[in-house]
Order: sequence, then structure tokens, then C-alpha cells
Amino acid sequence: MQLRCSYCQTMFALSREEMLAGLQHMSAENLNYYDAHCPKCRRANRVERKRMEMFFPKWKEAIKAMTKEATQAEKETGPAKPAPAEKKPASPKPAAKKPAKKNPASSKKATGGAKKK
Ligand SMILES: [Zn+2]
Repeated sequence: MQLRCSYCQTMFALSREEMLAGLQHMSAENLNYYDAHCPKCRRANRVERKRMEMFFPKWKEAIKAMTKEATQAEKETGPAKPAPAEKKPASPKPAAKKPAKKNPASSKKATGGAKKK
């Protein structure tokens, strides 16, 4: 929805996500307005809840769909893991026997750098 800042007269738009967040917040806190912040002067412009609901009448369904998706995603990938995990098959190889191998490059060192103390 389009809004006009009452302080600096800047026109700016509220996205669906912002309206949803605002409506959800108002519903949770029992508020009748939402503070939309102007992108230019950063001041809060009050938007009436009724007005926003008129712009987004199906917001409750949208929130339901959103939370449903979120819970499904959590079930599939686990919470707090945004990166998709690469599926690595369990390796049949046992761990390396000797972790500390002698560096093959050490033989090269012997030929050079003799002047250093
Ligand atoms: Zn402004």
C-alpha cells in the first residue's frame, strides 16, 4: 500500500511482508495502528489497522500459510540452519592411521637457507 509521510511528504510503499508483520503485531498487542517508518526521515507514521486490513483483507490466511510453511521447513531441515546440508554418505574408509606424516618438502629445505642463523 502507498503511504505519504506526514512529516516530509515522501511517498513510500509498504510491502506485503511489512503489512503482514504490522497486522500480526497489532493483533498480538491489541493495537489499532501501525507505525510505518518513513524511508527518508525515519519518523513513524501511524497507519490505522482498519485501513491496512482493507488493503490486505486476507492477511490472516496469509499468516496461517506462512507459519505452516515455516513449521514444515523446520521439520525438514531443522531449526536455525539456513544452509542446506550436503548429504554425505557415511564413509566406509576408516580414519587415517598416522595423522602426523613427515613433510616431503623438508628435504628441499636442507639445500637452501644455510646462511640463516
Ligand atoms: Zn518522512
